[in-house]
Amino acid sequence: MRLVLLVLCSVAAFAQANSHVEIVPVRGHIYMLAGAGGNITVSIGPDGVLLVDSGLAEMSDQVLAAIRELQRRVSVNGAPAKPIRYIINTHLHPDHIGGNEKIGEAGKTITGGNVIGDIGDATEGATIVAHEKVLDRLSPNGTPTVSFKALPTLTFLSDQMKLSQFFNGEGIQIFHEKAAHTDGDSIVLFRGSDVISAGDIFLTTSYPIIDLANGGSLQGIIDGLNHILDLSVPRSMQEGGTMVIPGFGRLCDQADVTDYRDMLTIIRDRVQDMLRKGKTLDEVRAARLSRDYDRRYSTSSWTGDMFIEAVYTSLKNGAPAGGSK
Ligand SMILES: [Zn+2]
Repeated sequence: MRLVLLVLCSVAAFAQANSHVEIVPVRGHIYMLAGAGGNITVSIGPDGVLLVDSGLAEMSDQVLAAIRELQRRVSVNGAPAKPIRYIINTHLHPDHIGGNEKIGEAGKTITGGNVIGDIGDATEGATIVAHEKVLDRLSPNGTPTVSFKALPTLTFLSDQMKLSQFFNGEGIQIFHEKAAHTDGDSIVLFRGSDVISAGDIFLTTSYPIIDLANGGSLQGIIDGLNHILDLSVPRSMQEGGTMVIPGFGRLCDQADVTDYRDMLTIIRDRVQDMLRKGKTLDEVRAARLSRDYDRRYSTSSWTGDMFIEAVYTSLKNGAPAGGSK
C-alpha cells in the first residue's frame, strides 16, 4: 500500500507544478498532451478523437480545452468537430484514468447527433477501453471504487486487441504487458503513424514505479520495454523512426527506450546477484546499487533507495507467472 501512496504523492506534486496542458505535436494527426497528470496521446481526424489515457480528474476541463483547440486547428472550412470516440486506458492509476468520467461524457456532448452515423452512440459517450484486470481492480466483486462512468466499457482478456476498423486512417493495436507497472498495463501502437503510447512502463522523469500491490513486477516492466523495442524501428542508427510517448516526461524514440531498458537490466542483475548471495535488504541498500543512475532518475518522492527496495521485493517474490515475453 505504501507504493500506491507514493504514486499518488508524486502525482500530486506533478499536478501542482503543471496547471496548464501543453499540446506537443508527435507525428501527423497524433499529439501528446502534457501536464494533466500522465501524458495523454490524442489521435484526431475525420473519424473523431481517440485518447490514450485521460489525466487527473481535476485537469479534465483543461484537457477538454486542449482537445477543442486541436479540433479547431484540424477543422476544414469550419466543419463541425467530430466527437471523442475512444479513451484507451494504459492502467488504473488516477493520474491516467481521472478524466474518464468527464471527458468520456463530453464524447456524447460533442457528438450531439450531428452526424447520422453517430446517433446510435449519442447516449453512450466515448467508449472506454482497457485490459480486463483494470476493470477487475477498479470494480472488485462488481463494486466500483470509482465513479461508475469512469469504468472501462470495453475490455479484453487476451494478449492484445485491435480496434475493429481503421481509425483516422490507421490500425490501432493494444497490447497487454503482464505484471509490469501493474498487472493490467497496456501499450498502444498506432500502426500507420508509427507511434507507441507506453503508459507508466516507460518514464523519462524517474525510475519506474513497481506497483507491487497492484500486481506489478520489475521483470514485467523490462519485458514490456523489450516489447516496445521489438515493435520499434529506428530511422537510422537507433535515432528517429518510431516515436514513443512515455507515461511521464518528454517525447522519445527507440534509443531512449533502449537506454532505460539497459539501466533497469543492469540494476536488476546487481540486485539479483546480491540476492543469490543471500544478502539482506539492509545489505542491498547499503551497497547503493543505483548510485550511478540516481542523479538522473532519483526524485524526492521516488528515490533510488525506494526503487532498490521495490526491486529487491519484486525479485524476491520471483518471476511473475507468464510474465516473460
Ligand atoms: Zn501509474
